[in-house]
Amino acid sequence: MKQLRASQARRELCRYAASFYHRGWMPGTSGNLSIKVADRPITLAITPSSVDKGGLTPRDIFLVTAAGATRHGRASTRPSAETAIHLALYEAFPTCGAVFHVHTVHSTLVATRHVRRGVVTAKGLEMLKGFQTLAPRATPEIPIFPNIDNLDDFARSIKRHTRRLANVPGFLIAHHGMTAWGRDAQEAEKHLELLEFLCHYLWEMGDPARGSVRTGSCTGRAGTVSARLCGGRARPSSAATIGHAGADRAVPAGRPPSRG
Ligand SMILES: [Zn+2]
Repeated sequence: MKQLRASQARRELCRYAASFYHRGWMPGTSGNLSIKVADRPITLAITPSSVDKGGLTPRDIFLVTAAGATRHGRASTRPSAETAIHLALYEAFPTCGAVFHVHTVHSTLVATRHVRRGVVTAKGLEMLKGFQTLAPRATPEIPIFPNIDNLDDFARSIKRHTRRLANVPGFLIAHHGMTAWGRDAQEAEKHLELLEFLCHYLWEMGDPARGSVRTGSCTGRAGTVSARLCGGRARPSSAATIGHAGADRAVPAGRPPSRG
């Protein structure tokens, strides 16, 4: 994918932020979006923290590197506090060109309901074919991270869980929302839409634990909707981010979550 120039990326981020805001996906100044504009060093255009995402202008967008250097952006604001999470994803997946994090109602509901299972999926759901990173007929398993408030550890956790995260370009965060990425902004948007469709579908389908749909298990039995259960504990842990509407903080965990 051809990288955008910084000026193009800043305009694109404003456009996507406005779109997501008007869909109700970035309420209350929440969420953060980035587009990679250079590889050496990795340089991102990223939205500001604690600023309404419905009316951003290119001047609001920061350019940052892993070294913390920043350019542009307004003096009264700062880059998303979750910049480290974005950088970790770009470092883990060299083909990643855009990372979008939003707070949708259905992703929050589903992640919160299934966080103890650590992963959620929907076998045979046609929409999931949109995840082109999957092998033919593979069933995507979307990781769910607890909403742990530990920003510094989160970026390291992303690297530890690179293999797990490679299954599907996105993850859910309990009590919080979801993050997706792609080779460019258009693909990252598509992956967000697929995850949101999945979460809306699962929520409308009902709670597998109540019997409205059959559930799978660690032994491999699978139903229409499955949530992996391994001894009642969450899968390899992970971590999650942010947690508030307004102050985008992020944090992951590397060990089994202390809560969730
Ligand atoms: Zn968030």
